[in-house]
Amino acid sequence: RPRVLSGIQPTADSFHVGNYLGALRQWVDLQATHETFYTVVDLHAITVEQDPALLRRRTRVAAAQLLALGIEPERSTLFVQSQVPAHNQLGWVMECLTGFGEAGRMTQFKDKSAKGGADRSSVGLFTYPILQAADILAYAADVVPVGEDQRQHLELTRNLAQRFNSRYGATLTVPEPYILKATAKIYDLTEPTVKMSKSSPGGALDLLADVKASVKRIKSAVTDAEREIRFDETNKPGVSNLLTLLSVFTGRDVPQLELDYQGKGYGDLKGDLANAFAAFVEPLQQQVTGYLDDPAELDRILAVGGARAREVADGTLATVYDRIGFLRG
Ligand code: ATP
Ligand code: MG
Repeated sequence: RPRVLSGIQPTADSFHVGNYLGALRQWVDLQATHETFYTVVDLHAITVEQDPALLRRRTRVAAAQLLALGIEPERSTLFVQSQVPAHNQLGWVMECLTGFGEAGRMTQFKDKSAKGGADRSSVGLFTYPILQAADILAYAADVVPVGEDQRQHLELTRNLAQRFNSRYGATLTVPEPYILKATAKIYDLTEPTVKMSKSSPGGALDLLADVKASVKRIKSAVTDAEREIRFDETNKPGVSNLLTLLSVFTGRDVPQLELDYQGKGYGDLKGDLANAFAAFVEPLQQQVTGYLDDPAELDRILAVGGARAREVADGTLATVYDRIGFLRG
């Protein structure tokens, strides 16, 4: 079976619908056909300051959401990144293969550091795509399901794997991104030209938010001054985003929805999306609460996953160290 690796940051009290549609839905589906490794990337989380108690809680909340969404520990290796030291060890090797200019071209760093100024950003925020490359390469992943915003980081990962292989001989698997076009980039509800994010949650639609508050957010989503319900990302980004969401939560494709909503108004579209979203998150929230009621069991599941992940990642690391010329201990 081909291998899959993907990760998500425990940097918010909830995942949002962009995380779900861009990545997590594919995580669940790929379990049927692939050998899957999924990780809560707490090392990436500390590239910006995190409160320790909150980080601990959010790591469990992240794991609980993954389980509730359908990640099955019997089928997937589900683990916390910091429990597998090989990520950092391989990360150092990858840092030494990365050009300074090459790292400087990562647009996500430019975007994320723009707020506080690059000088006030941590070096970790700058180098995190290189650690992410190590995350992926440690498991010899063939496929990496992510949203569009991760495409450039995946390209870096591929380049680093190829560079290592050409310098030291065929060792690392060069992964392919798995990005589903229709849902690769979900937009912020209040600013529909900007990606929905955990780090700027004003217009995010969170899976664990109070359902009434989410309904409110949907109903006040930014649209446009026309009345026509039509998919047109350039001229009607807000309406197009709502159509994408409604399509997923009702299982009807967008052209069908355009037909169904002829003559109807934005209020109808928003009302129906609110209902469909509520129907999806209500049972999910109950399941998450169930998992969080037993944190010891949650930690146990993650520890089992961590042990399995260490075995695989340590194997890759040993080969990499050997190829580089490090003495075996
Ligand atoms: P942050 O803003 O702090 O980076 P995030 O919302 O981007 O948080 P991540 O944990 O960085 O969340 O990303 C987890 C996964 O969700 C990644 O595969 C990422 O590509 C995907 N993703 C994030 N936002 C979106 C979005 N708006 N649309 C589609 N996919 C997304
Ligand atoms: Mg992100």
